[in-house]
Amino acid sequence: MSHNHQTSEEEYFYKLNRDLINKQREKLDSDRASLQEEEMKKAHWMKCPKCGHDLREIELSGIKVDKCDSCEGMFFDAGELELLIKAQKPEGFFSHMQSTFFPKKIT
Ligand SMILES: [Zn+2]
Repeated sequence: MSHNHQTSEEEYFYKLNRDLINKQREKLDSDRASLQEEEMKKAHWMKCPKCGHDLREIELSGIKVDKCDSCEGMFFDAGELELLIKAQKPEGFFSHMQSTFFPKKIT
């Protein structure tokens, strides 16, 4: 059997089916992608990227920082670092940071 025997009607329905399947496929793929994104977010949200422990949001002079209580890692949210850089007096932030992370003064 050769494709030359295919009538134009058959071709029409074949194409229609193929388009329909492609559309369904796209929808399934995007549904799966957003589901995966959601699952990934759930699994990693507010978790330390280094050690996997919970992150705690703390505020230092108006700048929000996520801090890991386990490995002492510190992470800036998007835009927070820019806020700090743009701030006129970052000294306030750094002295807050020092008293938060290094409360014991080494003399
Ligand atoms: Zn950590």
